[in-house]
Amino acid sequence: MIDERKIALVTGGGRGIGRAIALELGKKGYSLAINYSRSADAAQKACSLVRATGQDAQAFQADVSDPSQVREMFKNISDTMGNVDVLVNNAGITRDNLMIRMKDEDWDKVISSNLSSVYYCSREALKKMVKARWGRIINLSSVVALIGNAGQANYVASKSGIIGLTKTMAREYGARGITVNAVAPGFIETDMTSVLSEEAKNSMLAQIPLGRPGTPEDIAKVVSFLSSDDAAYITGQVIAIDGGMTMC
Ligand code: NAD
Repeated sequence: MIDERKIALVTGGGRGIGRAIALELGKKGYSLAINYSRSADAAQKACSLVRATGQDAQAFQADVSDPSQVREMFKNISDTMGNVDVLVNNAGITRDNLMIRMKDEDWDKVISSNLSSVYYCSREALKKMVKARWGRIINLSSVVALIGNAGQANYVASKSGIIGLTKTMAREYGARGITVNAVAPGFIETDMTSVLSEEAKNSMLAQIPLGRPGTPEDIAKVVSFLSSDDAAYITGQVIAIDGGMTMC
């Protein structure tokens, strides 16, 4: 358990991996700010689950691909809870298609939702973390950023961009006691992957030495570790959590 009150913000924390991360951080003693864009009900449910661990949790609406909404959200969090100590950039979407069929708006939407959002949220969080001389930023990349994936040019570009941004932030703010790391999940069972065909799922399973899909909790445990003081000497890293799928 952490020994002082710290606030963690999880973007897109109402379901899936984000919700599992919020719950795990709640168990570690963090107060939770749970961001959502559309589903207030899911975010409120996630808050109730965190509160059941004994920690404070509040939901904050913002489309994190919009810089003005991000600024407003950080102001609201600061006014009601305090400054964000741990930022988990989890929100993400897919709009898959082969490149020659991909619409420009699907390229732009995925880049702004998955990559620009990390820049907007981290920039706001860093302003206060720099003053506090302590902070943790953990970004959700993906194994496809390491190995590429046919049919996901927009998503892969966004998740690879996150890796470059992670390393740059780690270099810019390391001297201020702020660590910035990325996790790269493999095939994790959530709503995002439930739309995949059985064939696609089986083909991924065949590439996983541990022989099972990951769970949101598999990701949450590592994010929780990276947010703790035990991980104080780890920064600028990309940790694959993929059952051995990539090993690169
Ligand atoms: P999910 O679709 O279940 O959850 C994503 C959440 O992000 C949703 O609550 C959604 O509403 C929110 N969101 C999307 N755009 C947003 C925006 N503009 N503003 C605010 N919230 C927004 O997906 P998941 O599987 O839980 O994935 C979580 C993260 O992990 C994503 O970044 C995803 O790319 C990444 N990831 C997932 C897998 C996997 O196998 N599930 C693998 C690698 C990486």
